[in-house]
Amino acid sequence: MNIPFHRPALGDSAEEELAQVAEVLRSGWLTTGPKAAQLEAEFASASGAPFAAAVSSCTAGLHVALAALGVGEGDEVITTPLTFCATVQAIELTGATPVLADVGCDGNIDPASIESRITSRTRAILPVRLAGLPCNIDSFRTLAQKHNLVLVEDAAHADPLCGATECDAAVYSFYATKNMTTAEGGMVTTRNEALDARIRLLAHHGIRRESPGHWKYQVVEPGFKYNLSDLQAAVGLAQIRRLPQTRKSLRSLANLYQTRFKRDAEDLIELPPGIDQPSHSCHLYSIRLRLDRIRIARDEFIDRLAERAVTASVHFIPIPLHPAFRHLSADPAQDLPRAMALYPRLISLPIYASLSEEQVAYVADSVIAIARGAAR
Ligand SMILES: *Cc1c(COP(=O)(O)O)cnc(C)c1O
Repeated sequence: MNIPFHRPALGDSAEEELAQVAEVLRSGWLTTGPKAAQLEAEFASASGAPFAAAVSSCTAGLHVALAALGVGEGDEVITTPLTFCATVQAIELTGATPVLADVGCDGNIDPASIESRITSRTRAILPVRLAGLPCNIDSFRTLAQKHNLVLVEDAAHADPLCGATECDAAVYSFYATKNMTTAEGGMVTTRNEALDARIRLLAHHGIRRESPGHWKYQVVEPGFKYNLSDLQAAVGLAQIRRLPQTRKSLRSLANLYQTRFKRDAEDLIELPPGIDQPSHSCHLYSIRLRLDRIRIARDEFIDRLAERAVTASVHFIPIPLHPAFRHLSADPAQDLPRAMALYPRLISLPIYASLSEEQVAYVADSVIAIARGAAR
């Protein structure tokens, strides 16, 4: 039994995706057009956010959302160290400076730590829904109101069915490993019509047309090239329509892991926080080793899973441990103690719609056997 870390949810033979893509290819219109517009409409309706703008990636969406909100040079944006590099790079693309706040026990950015990092230059807070666990948005909003900040959520691990949050903008990812995919792509949702219009303008070169399809246009300000093609949006349409089913599968597989580990391993591994909440997307299933009770380190644990043909991963390597981001923390253990203490304990196990119950049982058996074999 060889169990990869991820497989996209494409059904048995990707028939819906193939039909959608074939339609686009036969139509003669490949780039942003009716399919992208349709995906935006279905995404908005699924999420409950009134406006949704399709973009070429979550990274692009985070960049354009921050830029559209006026974040730029001289500003500081507070975010989490337990994220993919894209979150921090999107901030840097605006010219602003990323500032790292520590996480709480749940792995999401901690409101108290955010508050301690606020300066006169702080312009925005950029929380990440780690693994799909909703953040404490209410406390971020209170901080944002008090200090006049904007709130942009990195919702790469969420899906529209998790519901819209009360942020200025939320940005989703359609990367190949996410809850729904277009291979590469993303979506920016907002409740603010003017912001949505500005995001659309900036995501397409800052171009304003006299009327749709008319040859005459003006570039009214510097912009980016961040649109989603219809070829990709077509895949997204099949994916978003399959999402209720995908979500049900992920939830049921997470429950299988939970039941098994609660029964047989809770003394050796800690279970993912909040995974039982209905609003958790179950995008990742990340266990935490109780290193005081296990003799081997996390890296070796993952190697032993690989010996059993189970591919695991880690979400995430804390940002300041990457050479490109060392300047963001002189002393991570001191500045970001919780993130740094969590990192050596984290293992993300395979979870995706096409994973069978037998495979989950095999992964769980493997984790338990390795942990038991190494128990102190
Ligand atoms: C995947 C991911 C991104 C980047 O998404 P892209 O669509 O590949 O740009 C950003 N943030 C987090 C937390 C991610 O996991």
